[in-house]
Amino acid sequence: ETGEPPEPLHRVQGENYAPGNQNSDRINATLLSLVRNKELEQLIQSMQDLERTWNHKFNYPWTFLNDEPFTPEFKKATKANTNAECRYLEIPKEHWEVPSWINEDLMHESANILEEHDVQYAHMKSYHQMCRWNSGLFYKHPELQDIQYYWRVEPNVHFFCDVDYDVFRYMQDHNKTYGFIVSLYDSPWTVQTLWPETMKFLASGNSHLLAQNNAMNWLTDKERRPNHNHDANGYSTCHFWSNFEIADMNFWRSPAYEAYFEHLDRAGGFFYERWGDAPVHSIGVGLFADKNSIHWFKDIGYQHIPFLNCPNSPKCQGCVAGRFTDGEAWLNKEDCRPNWFKYAGNEWALPD
Ligand code: GDP
Ligand code: MN
Repeated sequence: ETGEPPEPLHRVQGENYAPGNQNSDRINATLLSLVRNKELEQLIQSMQDLERTWNHKFNYPWTFLNDEPFTPEFKKATKANTNAECRYLEIPKEHWEVPSWINEDLMHESANILEEHDVQYAHMKSYHQMCRWNSGLFYKHPELQDIQYYWRVEPNVHFFCDVDYDVFRYMQDHNKTYGFIVSLYDSPWTVQTLWPETMKFLASGNSHLLAQNNAMNWLTDKERRPNHNHDANGYSTCHFWSNFEIADMNFWRSPAYEAYFEHLDRAGGFFYERWGDAPVHSIGVGLFADKNSIHWFKDIGYQHIPFLNCPNSPKCQGCVAGRFTDGEAWLNKEDCRPNWFKYAGNEWALPD
């Protein structure tokens, strides 16, 4: 039995959490999904899993975001799969467009180099835009200003386990800033200059922003990386896999993270390299949040192909307990969670 995170756990359900109840124990939070109209079917898969295992008990609203208007078909189908409120937001153009200081010729040349190193999506401009938006812009959407916590949900992910407490309240009650499930090494080629830029940022009068109890030693861990023969200029590349996140947007809105993102954005690596929101968020929380405010959701069974977290618990169905990948065996070595537990692990977080 895997057990559950430390008490208190907010298990109140039923009438209290009924969709329309304005006085419920729900806190200021939303399920959040950036998605394209053409991914409707895959999104419904994710919604059905999350509604079945968790949200039908708690009825947190869904917020869908898109760089284009959602189709009537998209709205109808998503509404049909939840009792909770649904909101549909278009991303402001100025949040999505490639910023003016990016040189498009240099961007293409850089993508050619990335491609030589087998970097996925090197030439896909929208992917770079998406990574930048997820790194530093989503929480600036005018319609999200009043919202604090979010649970990020991607199309075509799977949830396997019944969770019977309000995870948003868990975050709040335990002073958690950031929750993750899977952590992985990244291709060093995607983030060659991310760590050097981070060091530059700290050296130019910003080192006072570092959290007292930060996770610098995790970010710079030197342990040999099984499937890649080098790190990324000082960054181990171990990151929280951000297709799942439960986090506090007020952290991203803090002066420390804001200044950090601004620095990175000006440096251009979202377009000249392929900095992902996963390493950027991981370094952000790793440096500017207390590491005790980062929580491993061991009890949430989750899959985004090709990786999964499958707890050994009777509450979980549809996955093989303990398995980390459904892909080729070498993928098992991409798991860098032990690394995190080495530096920040609490008792509950240690593997069975
Ligand atoms: P991967 O998981 O890294 O392979 O990337 P995905 O294709 O799953 O994209 C990550 C997330 O961003 C998913 O939620 C996608 O639906 C979303 N996404 C990616 N590109 C776009 C885009 O151009 N427009 C919109 N609206 N969503 C996008
Ligand atoms: Mn994905």
